Amino acid sequence: MMMVLVIAVSLAYTNTIDSSAEGAPEIVSFEGIYTYERMLLDAQALSTYYPDVVSYELRAQTALGHQILVLRLGNPSAPRQILVHASIHGREYYVTPLVMKMAEYYAANEKELLSTTCFTIVPMVNPDGVSIAQSGAIAASDANYQAFIGFIGHYSAWKSNANGVDINRNFPIGFGLAETRMPSNSYAFYEGIAPSSEVETTVLEQLLSENSFDCYLAYHMRGNLIYFYTPTCSPEMFAMSQLIAATVHNSTGYRIDVDLSDTHPNGSFADYAQIMCGVPGCTIECGTTLPPAGADQVAGFYSRNLYSWKNVASLFASEASN
Ligand SMILES: [Zn+2]
Repeated sequence: MMMVLVIAVSLAYTNTIDSSAEGAPEIVSFEGIYTYERMLLDAQALSTYYPDVVSYELRAQTALGHQILVLRLGNPSAPRQILVHASIHGREYYVTPLVMKMAEYYAANEKELLSTTCFTIVPMVNPDGVSIAQSGAIAASDANYQAFIGFIGHYSAWKSNANGVDINRNFPIGFGLAETRMPSNSYAFYEGIAPSSEVETTVLEQLLSENSFDCYLAYHMRGNLIYFYTPTCSPEMFAMSQLIAATVHNSTGYRIDVDLSDTHPNGSFADYAQIMCGVPGCTIECGTTLPPAGADQVAGFYSRNLYSWKNVASLFASEASN
């Protein structure tokens, strides 16, 4: 009986869902490699076709000359504010088309939700890392960066930015305390010379300081898991993040993983958001296989995660409190 139920649930997750409203074009495609340039073109197209609910801006400038895309989905002054980010780790770039396609679906089909909820989406926090993971050292036109990246190698495993810093360890809480770490700039596991030394880090910090987010959803790969616990967070933060994680679990079927043996923060975005900014949320680890393998997973990520945004939004009040 149990087996039958499991099969029924997994079939429901893999249904193909048409993202577009009647007569609207399909903008975001899962075909081929989803590059930074494709993402920008899709952001432009989304804001053109759905100007009432989609806008975007470009922030900062990375070492390799990319500006970081911030997409606004919904009424910017809506009472509910949710931060979504993806691809903070370069090699996990399948989650960028995931959140872009989800944005397209919501723009086409969820106008009422978007009048009371604004999603601030950073679909590719780390465009340099994504470009390196996708194309290697030639992602850099600068000779010094090309030589550094070529010396390090491990392109398809590249989590860091082009400076060899893991953005998800560069936040100013528990900085340098991760158990497995590299002592210097590398493709992964190095926290940087100082907290917030990287522009990718400061863009997320700025968004957290400029907005009153009800929660965040951070998209990573892999494991089909949800994390929500940050060591030393308050009981209230634990409870709220647990509720958000449970809502994502109920929407996606991903398992919640809690490791209470962690005793301290380690410079991650989650540590910073929850403990320093008071914003609860969870990390969603999609899939089983890292790029460039398993490209056919992305459509499954989409159908599985699609309704989680509105289910998470429903946890928060839809009217301004004052
Ligand atoms: Zn990751």
